[in-house]
Amino acid sequence: MKRILTVEDETSIREFVVINLKRAGYTVFEAGSGEEALALFEEHNGDFDVVLLDVMLPGIDGFTVCKKLREQSGTMGIIMLSAKSQEMDKVSGLMLGADDYVTKPFSPSELLARVDAIHRRVIAAEQASAADKIVSGPFSLNLKSRTLVKNGESIELTQVEFQLMELFMNNPNIALARGDILGRVWGENYFGDEKIVDVNMRRLRMKLEDDPSKPKYILTVWGFGYKWIE
Ligand code: CA
Repeated sequence: MKRILTVEDETSIREFVVINLKRAGYTVFEAGSGEEALALFEEHNGDFDVVLLDVMLPGIDGFTVCKKLREQSGTMGIIMLSAKSQEMDKVSGLMLGADDYVTKPFSPSELLARVDAIHRRVIAAEQASAADKIVSGPFSLNLKSRTLVKNGESIELTQVEFQLMELFMNNPNIALARGDILGRVWGENYFGDEKIVDVNMRRLRMKLEDDPSKPKYILTVWGFGYKWIE
Protein backbone atom coordinates (compact mmCIF):
# COMPACT_ATOMS: atom_id res chain seq x y z
CA MET A 1 0.00 0.00 0.00
CA LYS A 2 1.26 3.47 -0.86
CA ARG A 3 0.57 5.61 2.19
CA ILE A 4 0.80 9.36 2.06
CA LEU A 5 0.06 12.11 4.58
CA THR A 6 -1.08 15.47 3.20
CA VAL A 7 -0.68 18.48 5.47
CA GLU A 8 -2.34 21.63 4.15
CA ASP A 9 -4.60 24.16 5.89
CA GLU A 10 -6.25 25.49 2.74
CA THR A 11 -9.16 23.11 2.19
CA SER A 12 -9.50 23.68 -1.56
CA ILE A 13 -5.82 22.92 -2.21
CA ARG A 14 -5.86 19.94 0.13
CA GLU A 15 -8.93 18.47 -1.58
CA PHE A 16 -7.36 18.99 -4.99
CA VAL A 17 -4.20 17.20 -3.86
CA VAL A 18 -6.08 14.37 -2.14
CA ILE A 19 -8.32 13.65 -5.15
CA ASN A 20 -5.34 13.45 -7.47
CA LEU A 21 -3.29 11.24 -5.15
CA LYS A 22 -6.22 8.87 -4.62
CA ARG A 23 -6.72 8.60 -8.38
CA ALA A 24 -3.05 7.62 -8.65
CA GLY A 25 -3.58 4.77 -6.20
CA TYR A 26 -2.32 6.34 -2.97
CA THR A 27 -3.98 5.80 0.40
CA VAL A 28 -4.24 9.36 1.65
CA PHE A 29 -4.39 10.73 5.20
CA GLU A 30 -5.18 14.41 5.76
CA ALA A 31 -4.17 17.01 8.33
CA GLY A 32 -5.15 20.69 8.43
CA SER A 33 -2.35 21.78 10.78
CA GLY A 34 1.11 20.79 11.93
CA GLU A 35 -0.19 19.69 15.30
CA GLU A 36 -2.75 17.43 13.63
CA ALA A 37 -0.04 16.00 11.36
CA LEU A 38 2.23 15.11 14.30
CA ALA A 39 -0.70 13.51 16.15
CA LEU A 40 -1.59 11.42 13.07
CA PHE A 41 2.04 10.43 12.66
CA GLU A 42 2.11 9.14 16.22
CA GLU A 43 -1.26 7.44 15.95
CA HIS A 44 -0.07 5.48 12.90
CA ASN A 45 3.41 4.77 14.33
CA GLY A 46 4.97 6.79 11.52
CA ASP A 47 3.70 4.32 8.92
CA PHE A 48 3.69 6.74 5.97
CA ASP A 49 5.83 6.45 2.85
CA VAL A 50 5.59 10.12 1.92
CA VAL A 51 4.45 13.34 3.63
CA LEU A 52 3.31 16.35 1.59
CA LEU A 53 3.87 19.31 3.86
CA ASP A 54 2.71 22.90 3.36
CA VAL A 55 5.20 25.52 4.63
CA MET A 56 2.71 28.13 5.83
CA LEU A 57 0.45 26.55 8.43
CA PRO A 58 -1.48 27.97 11.37
CA GLY A 59 0.28 27.10 14.66
CA ILE A 60 3.60 25.38 14.16
CA ASP A 61 4.92 25.89 10.64
CA GLY A 62 5.88 23.31 8.03
CA PHE A 63 9.62 23.68 8.66
CA THR A 64 9.22 22.75 12.32
CA VAL A 65 6.95 19.82 11.46
CA CYS A 66 9.49 18.64 8.87
CA LYS A 67 12.29 18.74 11.42
CA LYS A 68 10.25 16.82 14.00
CA LEU A 69 9.18 14.17 11.48
CA ARG A 70 12.72 13.72 10.21
CA GLU A 71 13.98 13.17 13.75
CA GLN A 72 11.62 10.21 13.98
CA SER A 73 12.01 8.72 10.52
CA GLY A 74 15.10 8.75 8.37
CA THR A 75 13.55 6.87 5.46
CA MET A 76 10.14 8.51 4.96
CA GLY A 77 9.90 10.90 1.99
CA ILE A 78 9.07 14.55 2.75
CA ILE A 79 7.96 17.02 0.06
CA MET A 80 7.43 20.66 1.05
CA LEU A 81 4.69 22.73 -0.62
CA SER A 82 5.42 26.43 -0.77
CA ALA A 83 3.36 29.35 -2.02
CA LYS A 84 6.06 31.79 -3.08
CA SER A 85 9.52 31.61 -4.54
CA GLN A 86 10.93 33.38 -1.44
CA GLU A 87 9.55 30.56 0.64
CA MET A 88 11.18 28.16 -1.76
CA ASP A 89 14.53 29.88 -1.19
CA LYS A 90 14.02 29.35 2.48
CA VAL A 91 13.16 25.73 1.88
CA SER A 92 16.27 25.16 -0.19
CA GLY A 93 18.38 26.95 2.42
CA LEU A 94 16.89 25.23 5.40
CA MET A 95 16.06 21.89 3.85
CA LEU A 96 15.78 20.43 7.35
CA GLY A 97 15.53 16.94 5.99
CA ALA A 98 12.96 17.52 3.23
CA ASP A 99 13.59 15.51 0.06
CA ASP A 100 11.96 17.85 -2.42
CA TYR A 101 9.73 20.90 -2.72
CA VAL A 102 6.95 21.97 -5.07
CA THR A 103 5.90 25.61 -5.62
CA LYS A 104 2.23 26.54 -5.79
CA PRO A 105 0.39 26.65 -8.07
CA PHE A 106 1.26 23.23 -9.43
CA SER A 107 -0.43 20.91 -11.91
CA PRO A 108 -1.63 17.45 -10.84
CA SER A 109 0.85 15.82 -13.23
CA GLU A 110 3.77 17.82 -11.80
CA LEU A 111 2.82 16.93 -8.25
CA LEU A 112 2.33 13.25 -9.06
CA ALA A 113 5.64 13.01 -10.88
CA ARG A 114 7.45 14.37 -7.79
CA VAL A 115 5.49 12.18 -5.37
CA ASP A 116 6.02 9.04 -7.47
CA ALA A 117 9.76 9.72 -7.70
CA ILE A 118 10.13 10.12 -3.93
CA HIS A 119 7.89 7.12 -3.28
CA ARG A 120 10.06 4.88 -5.49
CA ARG A 121 13.17 6.03 -3.62
CA VAL A 122 11.59 5.39 -0.22
CA ILE A 123 10.53 1.84 -1.17
CA ALA A 124 14.00 1.09 -2.58
CA ALA A 125 15.65 2.37 0.62
CA GLU A 126 13.29 0.31 2.81
CA GLN A 127 14.03 -2.85 0.83
CA ALA A 128 17.77 -2.21 1.02
CA SER A 129 17.68 -1.74 4.78
CA ALA A 130 15.54 -4.88 5.24
CA ALA A 131 18.22 -6.86 3.38
CA ASP A 132 20.80 -5.69 5.93
CA LYS A 133 18.88 -7.27 8.80
CA ILE A 134 18.29 -10.79 10.04
CA VAL A 135 15.28 -11.11 12.31
CA SER A 136 14.58 -14.16 14.46
CA GLY A 137 12.12 -14.22 17.34
CA PRO A 138 12.81 -11.18 19.55
CA PHE A 139 16.25 -10.71 17.97
CA SER A 140 17.29 -8.43 15.15
CA LEU A 141 20.84 -8.50 13.85
CA ASN A 142 21.88 -5.45 11.83
CA LEU A 143 24.66 -6.44 9.44
CA LYS A 144 25.52 -2.85 8.58
CA SER A 145 25.87 -1.37 12.06
CA ARG A 146 26.92 -4.81 13.39
CA THR A 147 24.56 -4.60 16.33
CA LEU A 148 22.17 -7.02 17.97
CA VAL A 149 18.87 -5.93 19.43
CA LYS A 150 16.57 -8.03 21.63
CA ASN A 151 13.06 -6.66 22.17
CA GLY A 152 14.32 -3.20 21.24
CA GLU A 153 17.29 -3.32 23.63
CA SER A 154 20.78 -3.53 22.26
CA ILE A 155 23.17 -6.25 23.36
CA GLU A 156 26.93 -5.67 23.22
CA LEU A 157 28.73 -8.35 21.23
CA THR A 158 32.37 -9.04 20.43
CA GLN A 159 33.14 -9.51 16.72
CA VAL A 160 33.38 -13.29 17.20
CA GLU A 161 30.02 -13.36 18.99
CA PHE A 162 28.55 -11.29 16.19
CA GLN A 163 29.80 -13.77 13.57
CA LEU A 164 28.37 -16.65 15.61
CA MET A 165 25.00 -14.89 15.72
CA GLU A 166 25.10 -14.28 11.98
CA LEU A 167 25.85 -17.97 11.35
CA PHE A 168 23.10 -19.17 13.71
CA MET A 169 20.41 -16.73 12.66
CA ASN A 170 21.05 -17.60 9.01
CA ASN A 171 20.63 -21.31 9.87
CA PRO A 172 17.66 -21.48 12.25
CA ASN A 173 16.66 -24.88 13.64
CA ILE A 174 19.67 -26.58 12.06
CA ALA A 175 22.17 -28.47 14.24
CA LEU A 176 25.64 -27.11 13.50
CA ALA A 177 28.67 -29.25 14.35
CA ARG A 178 31.37 -27.73 16.58
CA GLY A 179 34.01 -28.29 13.88
CA ASP A 180 31.77 -26.63 11.31
CA ILE A 181 31.18 -23.60 13.56
CA LEU A 182 34.91 -23.38 14.25
CA GLY A 183 35.74 -23.43 10.54
CA ARG A 184 33.12 -20.87 9.56
CA VAL A 185 33.78 -18.35 12.33
CA TRP A 186 37.42 -18.80 13.30
CA GLY A 187 38.54 -19.92 9.82
CA GLU A 188 39.65 -23.23 8.38
CA ASN A 189 43.23 -22.59 9.46
CA TYR A 190 42.41 -21.95 13.10
CA PHE A 191 44.92 -23.94 15.10
CA GLY A 192 43.18 -24.48 18.37
CA ASP A 193 40.70 -26.48 20.34
CA GLU A 194 36.99 -26.80 19.60
CA LYS A 195 36.44 -25.81 23.25
CA ILE A 196 36.76 -22.18 22.16
CA VAL A 197 33.33 -22.66 20.57
CA ASP A 198 31.84 -23.80 23.89
CA VAL A 199 33.39 -20.87 25.74
CA ASN A 200 31.85 -18.39 23.31
CA MET A 201 28.49 -20.12 23.24
CA ARG A 202 28.35 -19.98 27.02
CA ARG A 203 29.08 -16.26 26.93
CA LEU A 204 26.47 -15.69 24.24
CA ARG A 205 23.89 -17.49 26.38
CA MET A 206 24.71 -15.19 29.30
CA LYS A 207 23.98 -12.21 27.06
CA LEU A 208 20.97 -13.55 25.16
CA GLU A 209 18.99 -15.99 27.23
CA ASP A 210 16.42 -14.92 29.82
CA ASP A 211 17.70 -17.81 31.95
CA PRO A 212 21.14 -19.01 30.72
CA SER A 213 20.80 -22.28 32.67
CA LYS A 214 17.61 -23.09 30.72
CA PRO A 215 18.44 -21.82 27.23
CA LYS A 216 15.55 -21.29 24.82
CA TYR A 217 17.45 -19.93 21.83
CA ILE A 218 20.86 -21.62 21.80
CA LEU A 219 20.41 -25.34 22.38
CA THR A 220 23.18 -27.87 22.89
CA VAL A 221 23.09 -30.87 20.59
CA TRP A 222 24.91 -33.41 22.76
CA GLY A 223 28.07 -34.84 21.28
CA PHE A 224 27.64 -32.70 18.17
CA GLY A 225 27.30 -28.95 18.50
CA TYR A 226 24.62 -26.26 18.77
CA LYS A 227 21.30 -25.29 17.29
CA TRP A 228 19.60 -21.90 17.04
CA ILE A 229 15.87 -22.13 17.76
CA GLU A 230 13.62 -19.71 15.94
CA1 CA B 1 -0.92 27.18 3.93
